[in-house]
Amino acid sequence: KWVRIDTIRDPDNAITHYVTVFSDISERKASEERIRFLAQHDALTGLPNRRLLLNRINKACAAGKRSGKFGALLIIDIDHFKTLNDTLGHDVGDHLLIEVARRLTACIREEDTAARQGGDEFVVMLEELGGDPESAGIQAEMVAEKIRAELSQPYLLCGDTEYVRTASIGISVFLGQEKSTDVLLKQSDIALYKAKDAGRNIVRFFDNAMQTALNERASLEAGLRRALARNELLLHVQPQVDAQRRLIGAEALLRWQPPGSPMVPPGDFIPLAEETGLIVAIGLWVLDKACAGLRRWADDPRTRGLSMAVNVSARQFRQDDFVDQVKAALARHGANPERLKLELTESLLLDHVDGVVLKMQALRQIGVRFSLDDFGTGYASLAYLKRFPFEQLKVDRSFIRDITDDPDDAAIVRAIIAMGNTLRLSVVAEGVEANEQHAYLVEHGCTAFQGYLFGRPVPFEVFEAGL
Ligand code: C2E
Ligand code: MG
Ligand code: MG
Repeated sequence: KWVRIDTIRDPDNAITHYVTVFSDISERKASEERIRFLAQHDALTGLPNRRLLLNRINKACAAGKRSGKFGALLIIDIDHFKTLNDTLGHDVGDHLLIEVARRLTACIREEDTAARQGGDEFVVMLEELGGDPESAGIQAEMVAEKIRAELSQPYLLCGDTEYVRTASIGISVFLGQEKSTDVLLKQSDIALYKAKDAGRNIVRFFDNAMQTALNERASLEAGLRRALARNELLLHVQPQVDAQRRLIGAEALLRWQPPGSPMVPPGDFIPLAEETGLIVAIGLWVLDKACAGLRRWADDPRTRGLSMAVNVSARQFRQDDFVDQVKAALARHGANPERLKLELTESLLLDHVDGVVLKMQALRQIGVRFSLDDFGTGYASLAYLKRFPFEQLKVDRSFIRDITDDPDDAAIVRAIIAMGNTLRLSVVAEGVEANEQHAYLVEHGCTAFQGYLFGRPVPFEVFEAGL
């Protein structure tokens, strides 16, 4: 409402009345709002225009400077848009742009921005992509691939004829205000040209090192997907011994042998398998092979008493049916659950504590035991540890390495052993390579050992033949 108030006075100039006039200005407000919106948005698609985009990029750079989190700018260009416009007319072209805008918006989070630069060029800005360039690149690529896939779905533009269009995407990753907005957009533009040059319908990064790293990762991922199906995974076993060097068990360690290339160490592919979810299938395969091994060992008096330690990664353990999967693997081979030991890492204990404890207890009930791997490298406190039904602590290799030279490492290991004894946890040392290390550990009360001194990880056949 617009209100106007007038005063009415008598001949002596004293106020006698007020007269108030109201008018409805809803329409004016609405059109002001509309003008403001139009000044910042693209009339056709309703997306932010270049002006609002620049504003948001500036804000994102300032926010990134404070938070230390990376952002990414994606420039998206519809391949051969001009041909469509020229042959089918501008109405059809407009329809396509509106649909592209809708799909873009659906692909991003609310806090991200999708804008139209003009013509058939769109920009998506992603924020809060994490604190290091590599993971920012990975996330930006994931969104870009999702957009690329969405935009290449058929469009219904006029009548019920379907049209297929693809898009090329250029990405630059940024942190804080180290580069100006213009430079950032220019870099994404250069990346876009690389994508067009590479044949379109493709995603490219401005940064060559990032592109190379992502390409390698992509081929590793593709290789790993095939590895299971093609039987390229192997399970090796490494002996574990007691103070008198008698064999008490083994740890199962995964190997990947792609045909015609060198063996890939687990440290190089397990993190990737975790991120992509492939670890779930791989972990099941490992469990199956380990249980089959336990079954074979049960038939031989020399191996009947051995335990088998199996590494379980966080993502695998968090599967709802993890407990059932373990039980199923044991049952499938008729393996003794009391001989199976699952190695967990501290990172797994940090959240959903109750759920983790429940799963561990369910498996403890049938006899399966748990060992805490790489102990000492994380943050687990004594009080915290007590909440989980572990049977064993596995002292990380990094402490064992210098145990005879570095008094600090030696003190840490002695403390871990003492603590294990107090909590009635057995302690196993991993990475024992020298006689002096073994002697020192025995002297201080460690009861189980694993390391090259007693044997390297080898195929089951080699392990069994060497008994
Ligand atoms: P981890 O569980 O801590 O395994 C011990 C690692 O130390 C193994 O490396 C083993 O080969 C190595 N090692 C053993 N003794 C010695 C020694 O005396 N000196 C030295 N320098 N190294 C020794 P590997 O086989 O490369 O495995 C690396 C990591 O990959 C494992 O660390 C584990 O976290 C993961 N991993 C291996 N197999 C699996 C699996 O089946 N599932 C999952 N989720 N992770 C696995
Ligand atoms: Mg382990
Ligand atoms: Mg370890």
